Amino acid sequence: MSEMIVYRWLCPFCINGDMGPEVGRCLHCTGTGLTNDVGGFEEHELTRAPIPPGIMRRACTDCAYRSGSPELEANGAQLPIDAPFWCHHGMTTGYGGSYNAPALYRPDGATKDIPIGELVCAGWWALKTGRPLPAEDFREPGTKGTDGTQSLAGKTELSGAGEPAAEPAELVHADASHQVSAVNPLDDHHAAEEMRRCP
Ligand SMILES: [Zn+2]
Repeated sequence: MSEMIVYRWLCPFCINGDMGPEVGRCLHCTGTGLTNDVGGFEEHELTRAPIPPGIMRRACTDCAYRSGSPELEANGAQLPIDAPFWCHHGMTTGYGGSYNAPALYRPDGATKDIPIGELVCAGWWALKTGRPLPAEDFREPGTKGTDGTQSLAGKTELSGAGEPAAEPAELVHADASHQVSAVNPLDDHHAAEEMRRCP
């Protein structure tokens, strides 16, 4: 039984886990300063948890979570929702173009490897944290977008060269909610190899 927690919000009852001199450690979030338990609060009253440094700053042009991606076209057959999803850019490639991580970690009892140091997909993070999915359709690196701009191929694009570093999430496309329902959890068997195969 695997477990994954992604906190969406800073705890609205404390600051950095501290409720102040009277109480001390927060009784709501047990002092982490993070929570998903925000019943009774409106979204505009809440502050999103920061995006960790290991998450891609923005979705790749060929992000699996873009509309029209091979993965979404396949009804999300390869896309995990209750497992982390790593970006394939920058990964080492092996036989047949398979994606491989140079460092893997599998805790005792786990059924999947965790790649150490690879970046997590921005589209997946958006889905998990309730942010808008990337607005523009999927396209292969090096092809022209609808706005006529040429996307940069490969690793140049990865580094975000020539683009704002911390651009806010793009507008959601209309069928985002449909996409969420189309993204199915993977069984454990598929998940291990999915990490290597998928963008
Ligand atoms: Zn708290």
